[in-house]
Amino acid sequence: MSKSAPSRWPATSLPYGEEHELLRATARRFFETECAPHREAWDEAGMAPRSIWLRAGELGLLCVRLPEEFGGAAGDILHSTILIEEQVKAGVVGPMLSLHSDVVAPYVAHYGSTEQKMRILPRMARGEWIGAIAMTEPGGGSDLRTMTTRAHREGDQYVINGAKTFISNGANADLIVLAAQTDAGISLFLVETPRLAGFSRGAPLDKVGQWSGDTTELFFDNVRIPASALLGGTEGLGFAQLSARLAEERLMTGVVAVAAMEQAIADTIAYTRDRLAFGQSVLDFQNTRFRLAEARTEAIVCRTFMERCVLKFQRGELDAVEAAMLKYWSTEHQNRIIDACLQLHGGYGYMLEYPIARAWLDGRIAKIYGGSNEIMKEIIGRSL
Ligand SMILES: Cc1cc2nc3c(=O)[nH]c(=O)nc-3n(C[C@H](O)[C@H](O)[C@H](O)COP(=O)(O)OP(=O)(O)OC[C@H]3O[C@@H](n4cnc5c(N)ncnc54)[C@H](O)[C@@H]3O)c2cc1C
Repeated sequence: MSKSAPSRWPATSLPYGEEHELLRATARRFFETECAPHREAWDEAGMAPRSIWLRAGELGLLCVRLPEEFGGAAGDILHSTILIEEQVKAGVVGPMLSLHSDVVAPYVAHYGSTEQKMRILPRMARGEWIGAIAMTEPGGGSDLRTMTTRAHREGDQYVINGAKTFISNGANADLIVLAAQTDAGISLFLVETPRLAGFSRGAPLDKVGQWSGDTTELFFDNVRIPASALLGGTEGLGFAQLSARLAEERLMTGVVAVAAMEQAIADTIAYTRDRLAFGQSVLDFQNTRFRLAEARTEAIVCRTFMERCVLKFQRGELDAVEAAMLKYWSTEHQNRIIDACLQLHGGYGYMLEYPIARAWLDGRIAKIYGGSNEIMKEIIGRSL
């Protein structure tokens, strides 16, 4: 195989401008020098410290797409893709910035009142408040209709009882977009956790991977929140609000998946080039070249589709079905490619000190969360 990879790979057709590249440089420095060196300590702690959220806020890396009046930089979806790519490529899992900026903040921005936006979003953009979204319950995540957490109206308050599990950013969250049953069906609430009586969190959950990604259970025991916390002001809008916004979350999962597969391929080319077996570089075995040729082809196909979805999102045209296709397809390939890349590392691929082993562990969840890939196929299937 030729020793020289194409000079600009992965090729991108996204229209990045100078301003995007400036953000990329800041993000790269931040993830490489201020996050990656602490990965082990953060893995050990089960989460990244609050100080790194504040630092990300200080550097303008949080909630970049929010309007300036709410503390953002009036950026676009390309700014978000850059931040995800740089975080993945630096091998940094926690802090889970994209969930905060690209998933949670948009609920407030789209459905919150002006008062809620003015009060909550600047804090999120500065990293003073960390955001989470809580849908899944111990009894089920895929079928949200079986949700048992209940919000019951009493005068000018709602009283919440129930439990949520597997909540990313749960241990640190100051603002939780909470899905709960109300008289008119599922509704979303903005739950502000500081000094909230009756609210508690479990210990960090012991996960297969993503160790520095804080994931916990949340408990609500007669928690009282103001009636104004009901997102959108009317009960029963939860499903419609989730359906509208989940496409964005699935798009982001696709961006992560593509970055992860590209990084795995780059790592594997470098490793197999240096590793010798039977007197030759492992990269020079036809099997290695063929498997990497397949992987690179698959990654480029995934990137092409992901970029189409990014551009459609930017034009306001990305629908739930196409987002589901991207989430399903890209995460399946992420896992397949990373598994093949691990195989090409031999025994070292199973050693945690090698990035490919971590990518393998961290990537597995992508086929499950954000709506499992079986649910993605249900969404696609219903559109046939
Ligand atoms: C690390 C991590 C982070 C997470 N972060 C969050 C978060 O921040 N917020 C949050 O709300 N949730 C979060 N989740 C939860 C995640 O979204 C759920 O685990 C997921 O939606 C699946 O729900 P479940 O685990 O209850 O599985 P179940 O719903 O019990 O599903 C079990 C299996 O049955 C399959 N299945 C279910 N229904 C169907 C069907 N109709 N047809 C075919 N197959 C079906 C599923 O695909 C799965 O394979 C997280 C989970 C993990 C592990």
